Amino acid sequence: MKELVVISGKGGTGKTSVIASFAALSRQAVLVDCDVDAADLHLVLEPRTVRREDFSAGSQARIKPGHCTACGKCEELCRFDAIYFDGPGNGQVPKTFRVDPIACEGCGVCVDYCAEDAIAFEPVVCGQWFISETRCGPLVHARLGIAAENSGKLVTQLRRTAQQVAVEQRRELILCDGSPGIGCPVIASLTGASLALFIVEPTASGQHDFVRVAELASQLGVPGILAVNKADLNEEVTRSLERLAAQRGMSVVGRIPYDRAVTHAQIARQSVVEASDGPAARAIRNVWSAVVAQLELVPTAAIRPVFVEITPSE
Ligand code: SF4
Ligand code: SF4
Repeated sequence: MKELVVISGKGGTGKTSVIASFAALSRQAVLVDCDVDAADLHLVLEPRTVRREDFSAGSQARIKPGHCTACGKCEELCRFDAIYFDGPGNGQVPKTFRVDPIACEGCGVCVDYCAEDAIAFEPVVCGQWFISETRCGPLVHARLGIAAENSGKLVTQLRRTAQQVAVEQRRELILCDGSPGIGCPVIASLTGASLALFIVEPTASGQHDFVRVAELASQLGVPGILAVNKADLNEEVTRSLERLAAQRGMSVVGRIPYDRAVTHAQIARQSVVEASDGPAARAIRNVWSAVVAQLELVPTAAIRPVFVEITPSE
């Protein structure tokens, strides 16, 4: 099994358009949208959900008013100022303490030190993940709650589930829409992948972020290749990107020109190669051919499938 991660360093560079086209060209891959903070692959692929699971990334404290004696120990110990003395009274005290769920970081200190065992510590559901069917193959994706954290943990869950689906359906390739930036979700997207395809726009910020994420991939031991999107918008920066790639020993697998057909495809909820045979579609087809050739050269993904219990949705 091999995993291709399409990555950009910054958002909005067209990586989802590219990976949706790859999905349409491959039809044999498992697709996974690891851009969990701004998932959008489902908008193009119109999935039909077959399994749905809650995602819990941690626990939160909750004071049980009936048990609290208002000793104040928890408020004294909470380093996040998440405990307030404005909870409802009970038979013993007129007021109890209360945890602000937004401020609580789930460290668990108050739970450990409450002598009355008055603080519950409960898992917080902060999103859902899905296995869906699409016209281009199975898609593993997620919806993270507003302001929910721990998206790196969710990315790991998605990749493991995609590996499981690949094994079950005897599919040899996983196409992963990676997260932008260089933070935890990107590290979770890249670690153990077979190959990273960098989709970069020829702008100063695109180049800056490409250098950072290429360095990250290198440190993680993931080989990379580069394709420049909207390459004709700035020939000078495009050449600079290609020089930077060459200095890092990366192959440049294509230039995708600016093409209004990409926007029209997005509006039509289709991939570029399904909606058009124009310059961008032709370039993406060429990039796909080069990617397939590069995948032949790299070893299989280092991460082995971790089987998780999946129960059908209601
Ligand atoms: S430590 Fe326990 S008993 Fe004391 S105020 Fe906090 S919740 Fe109430
Ligand atoms: S779990 Fe930690 S952050 Fe949350 S209320 Fe208790 S001490 Fe504060």
